Amino acid sequence: MPNIMITETCNLRCPYCFASEFVNKKPKEMTLSDFKKALNFALSDGKDRQLGIIGGEPTLYPLINEVLRMALEDPRSDPVMIYTNGVALENILPQNLEDAKFRMLVNCNSPEDMGQKQFDKMRENLMRFKKDHYGEGRFRLSVNLYKPDFDYSYIIPIVQELEFDTIRLSISVPPKSKVSEQTALEYFRSMKPVALSFIGDMIRCGTLTGFDCNFLPECVLTKEERDGLMKVKDIFYSGLSKNYSRNFWQRAILCETHNCTPVIDILPDLNAIRCFGLSEHTKVPIDHFKDIKELRKFYIDNVDRPIINCSSSPECKDCYNRECGDCTGGCHYFRDEQFFGGKNIELDDAHKDAFFDHTYRCPTCGGELGEDALYGGCSCC
Ligand code: SF4
Ligand code: SF4
Repeated sequence: MPNIMITETCNLRCPYCFASEFVNKKPKEMTLSDFKKALNFALSDGKDRQLGIIGGEPTLYPLINEVLRMALEDPRSDPVMIYTNGVALENILPQNLEDAKFRMLVNCNSPEDMGQKQFDKMRENLMRFKKDHYGEGRFRLSVNLYKPDFDYSYIIPIVQELEFDTIRLSISVPPKSKVSEQTALEYFRSMKPVALSFIGDMIRCGTLTGFDCNFLPECVLTKEERDGLMKVKDIFYSGLSKNYSRNFWQRAILCETHNCTPVIDILPDLNAIRCFGLSEHTKVPIDHFKDIKELRKFYIDNVDRPIINCSSSPECKDCYNRECGDCTGGCHYFRDEQFFGGKNIELDDAHKDAFFDHTYRCPTCGGELGEDALYGGCSCC
C-alpha cells in the first residue's frame, strides 16, 4: 500500500520514530497541487486501491480535511487509511470520519513516551471515535515495541475497553546511532521475551496480534516456541478464518513470511522512498516514473533482489533461507550501509532522463483539475 506523507510536523517525539530523518527537523508540508499529483501517482496501479495518509502527524496538516476528501472521493481508492497518534483527532471533520472508505491506525504510545496529558487525550479520542463513528474494522491500534524492558501494560485496559479483536505489532528497529552495537539477530533475540509476552497477554484478552513488516525472524524462536504459537494460531484460525484476509493470517501471532516488499512512501517534495527503513538511500523523484508499478519494479530490481547478497548477521551468511530470498534476516535497515555504502540509489538509464506529468486529472473525462476542483469532478462532468 503506497503512503502519502503530507506533513513532517509532529506533536510527539517518539523515541522509536521511523521517520526521524524528516520529522520536526525543518518540517515541510505538501502543497495541495502536489498532493493531487501524489494521489494520482499512488493510485496509478489500477489494482492496489489501498492508500495511506501519513506524517509526521497528519491530523496537524492544515488542509487535512481537503486531502482526505479528495482521497476518499477518488473512485480508484479503497480504503483510505490515516496513520495517527490520535491526539488531535478533533481536527478531522465527522463527514470524513464517517466515510465508508475511511480507516484509521492509531499508534498507541505509552504515557511515559507521550506525556500523561497527551495520553489521556488520545484515550478519550479513541473512546469517542468508537462511540460516534465506529464501524466494523474501520479502526485499529498499533504498538511499537522498541526496547527489551518496554512496559506495555498501559495498553491492556484500552484494548479491553475498546473490545478490539486485533492489534498491530511492530518490533521497531534501534536508532541509527545504536544499530552497530548489535547484529540484527542479537537485537531480535533481545526483543523476543517482550514480544512473546505481549502476544501472550493479547491472547488472554482475546486479541490477535498481527505483525507489521518488522517481525521476529523465524530462527530467533525455539522449536517449542514456534509449535506453541502455531497451536494457538490454529485454534483462532479454526473459529475465525473467514473474518480476516489470508495476508493477515500469514502475519498473525506467528509471522510465517520473513521478507518484505516495497511499501513506497511519497514525501512532501514528491520524492519517493522504498520505505522508512531505507529512507536515507532510496529517494527518487516520482516524475521520472510512468506509474507506481514501474517504480515498484525499479525498487525490486535495484534493491530487493541484490540486497539479499548482503547479510545482516554472521549467521545469515550461509543460511539457505537468505540465499533463496525467504528471509531478509530482519529489516533491510540493518544492512543499508553495507549495501548502499552511504549513498543514495542512482536512477538507471531507463529513468534518468524520463519525465512524466502526474497532474491530477478528472477520473471521468480526463480533463485537468484546477486548484478549486478538489473533489474528483470537473466543470464538464
Ligand atoms: S537468513 Fe537465516 S539466519 Fe538469518 S535471520 Fe533468516 S533464518 Fe535466521
Ligand atoms: S526494509 Fe522491509 S522491514 Fe524494513 S522498514 Fe522497509 S518494508 Fe519494513
